[in-house]
Amino acid sequence: MLETSKKQYDILIAGAGFAGSITALILHNLGLKVCLIEKGQHPRFAIGESSTPVADLILRNLATKYNLPWLHDFSRYGTWQQSHPEIICGIKRGFSFYKHSPGKKFVTSEGHINELLVAASSDDIQSDTNWLRADLDAFLVNKVKEYGIDYFDLTEIVSAKKNAKWDFYVNHLNSHSIMEVAYYIDATGSGDLLEKLLGIKSSSADFLTNSFSIFSHFNHLPTWSGILQKENIPSDDYPYNPDNSALHHVLDEGWIWMLRFNNNLTSFGFVLEDSNALYDNIETEIIWEEKLKKYPSVNNLMTEATLAEKPGKILRSKRLQRKLNNCFGSGWVALPHSIGFIDPLFSSGIAHSLAGIEKVINCISENWGDERKLDQNMKEYENAVFEELKLADCLIAGCYKSMPYFELFNIWSMLYFTATIAHEQRRIKKQEPGYFLNADDLAIREIVKLSYADLIKILENAPPTAEEINRFTRIIKERIQPYNIAGLLEPSSKNMYLHTVAKI
Ligand SMILES: Cc1cc2nc3c(=O)[nH]c(=O)nc-3n(C[C@H](O)[C@H](O)[C@H](O)COP(=O)(O)OP(=O)(O)OC[C@H]3O[C@@H](n4cnc5c(N)ncnc54)[C@H](O)[C@@H]3O)c2cc1C
Repeated sequence: MLETSKKQYDILIAGAGFAGSITALILHNLGLKVCLIEKGQHPRFAIGESSTPVADLILRNLATKYNLPWLHDFSRYGTWQQSHPEIICGIKRGFSFYKHSPGKKFVTSEGHINELLVAASSDDIQSDTNWLRADLDAFLVNKVKEYGIDYFDLTEIVSAKKNAKWDFYVNHLNSHSIMEVAYYIDATGSGDLLEKLLGIKSSSADFLTNSFSIFSHFNHLPTWSGILQKENIPSDDYPYNPDNSALHHVLDEGWIWMLRFNNNLTSFGFVLEDSNALYDNIETEIIWEEKLKKYPSVNNLMTEATLAEKPGKILRSKRLQRKLNNCFGSGWVALPHSIGFIDPLFSSGIAHSLAGIEKVINCISENWGDERKLDQNMKEYENAVFEELKLADCLIAGCYKSMPYFELFNIWSMLYFTATIAHEQRRIKKQEPGYFLNADDLAIREIVKLSYADLIKILENAPPTAEEINRFTRIIKERIQPYNIAGLLEPSSKNMYLHTVAKI
């Protein structure tokens, strides 16, 4: 319960998703007096579940560096199961893509012409995970309380005034109070609160990608491997069971994610390209039904599935792409998911949030008490997040453009895997991590920019010819060659990649 007197803190964090809670725990361990405020109440439904090797690497680093040993266990399926089997998660061995054509059952060939499987881990024990955010976020908030950090849920920040310090005016149930804080961190996962408190605007204008999502959680969703079996589609040379992965069905106009948890629950959602505002006046349920009808093999999967109790309905996002005009200011900073977002196609959100936490904590721990230096360092953080969003935008926009032509999609997506493997390698070799996705690597930025221009040119006369596809493959392979430790685009791989597996 909040008191009516003024409470004083070094740092106030708004938003108790995993990002807000982990940040609170680290700052507390650094000796700062922290308060965490959440407008809702845990456990609550949250979307955004699939982690990656980079997310795991950062989680482990944060756990070691800031003395949160229990956090380490959440970085691999095996250790998670050993220490916290009660917190639901799923095995994620890599990314799997299956291309569907309108009105037709899923078909492929011996050479996996309509499949792409990219392994990220060598076995289930070492595997990445799908986080059931309701469970994990609630666990983290309990840790926050256990560590003695002041935590207030069902609390609204009404306004904020900055003099030498901030005064935050907050409402909790029927009581009002003021909190005096030196620094504010926004971990609310959107730009709304910063706009309300400080007038910081958000925009979607600069992005190449234009997508929105309709999604929910389901029970009893049959396995995709079962469907493949029924259709006699062989999977003997798969690097892993595709149901234990971020399983993506690629459509002409977008894609579907299927993220399975180990308790019969599956996260399932469409992400649809919407440059022409085609869906503006169409009800969510109608879009849902139409898309399922259009792709019979996916429809088959969904006939037996039932909506899970939480959230109990199909949810719809606005346009996913957004970016704040500023990431920081005098006495405040925002974490990546408050700053902006592109699209969940490569599940980069959790890793991006953790990479942002890493940078923000470094800035604060090295410059606490020196506002000028803190701001200088936060400027570098802002550059990083903006460049990261820009690179991710181009990589993802190219995927949407190429979705109707799976061979092109396949080639283009290798640029994403190149960027992420390059970043993983930096971290594995204990070099300075730099920007997420190696967005500070000018060569990678140039490769993506040039290749995007080439892709657009090919698509001017779509469908692409075999000769154009071959030429594009050659060009991309040549460009990524200095980074290509994983045999990307080797014909012998037949779209089944075992070798991106990082030894971590
Ligand atoms: C459709 C979709 C699918 C996604 N899929 C993936 C994926 O598979 N993998 C991945 O890595 N990322 C994914 N993401 C991104 C991922 O959701 C985010 O990166 C992640 O949620 C960021 O976590 P967070 O803790 O920063 O924010 P959030 O999870 O958004 O948490 C913010 C918290 O702040 C609280 N809050 C909000 N406003 C206020 C306020 N005014 N005052 C106080 N508290 C407030 C909220 O209640 C919430 O608890 C996806 C995103 C979307 C939209």
